[in-house]
Amino acid sequence: MARAPKTASDKLNPSCSECQTRNCYRRDSKYPQFCLSEANPDGAKETKALYSGRGQDAKVARAAAEVEAEYYGRLTRLEETIIFALKLGAQKVGVASCVGFLDESAVYAKVVRAAGLEVKTVGCKVGSIDKCEIGLPDGLKLAPGVHEACCNPVLQAKVLNDWGSDLNVLLGLCVGHDYLFSKHSKAPAVTLAVKDRVLSHNPMGAIYTHKFYYKRIMDLSTFPQSRLKDKK
Ligand code: SF4
Repeated sequence: MARAPKTASDKLNPSCSECQTRNCYRRDSKYPQFCLSEANPDGAKETKALYSGRGQDAKVARAAAEVEAEYYGRLTRLEETIIFALKLGAQKVGVASCVGFLDESAVYAKVVRAAGLEVKTVGCKVGSIDKCEIGLPDGLKLAPGVHEACCNPVLQAKVLNDWGSDLNVLLGLCVGHDYLFSKHSKAPAVTLAVKDRVLSHNPMGAIYTHKFYYKRIMDLSTFPQSRLKDKK
């Protein structure tokens, strides 16, 4: 049975987040009225054909499903990326790392090499373009008045594309820079870790504690953007 809508926006547009049957998973219950499986039969047919084919999307989809099935709950995500690379038949693993994760990337590179694969890491400040050169005011630098390179995910992707990586792994890229890297990466790009400067790179911490320590996330008026608007 579908969960009763709790907020005005739920009422307007319930989707999978508001579903309590999750019948799409095992088909042991009922679809809710707003079910996106039921609303998209053609999409299901098209994607079934895609995944059962011989193209790269099919290869990636099956490799990912095999990793899940064979190692469910037994391997860390780090290990899963290595098994995934092996299943894809990758020889060269590119790492797109945040500059703040380069020590961690060195550990990861050792693990990748130990698996018999080649690895190349490209840090996010590659190219060393000053933030002012891309239109940011000097006052928005963390250290105004000195050279401060912007993140350069497009060049990270280009370096790894030129090297011929078979799989790229994102390590700690910022929100938005992750999009640019994935967009420009020729090889499939998967994420080992995302950046969260406040929660030790565990963004789910805010959700797991939203009823107490991070209840502020449920109150839009406390968002920095709201405060900025107030100042205008
Ligand atoms: S696809 Fe349908 S059954 Fe599955 S979670 Fe979404 S609404 Fe629920």
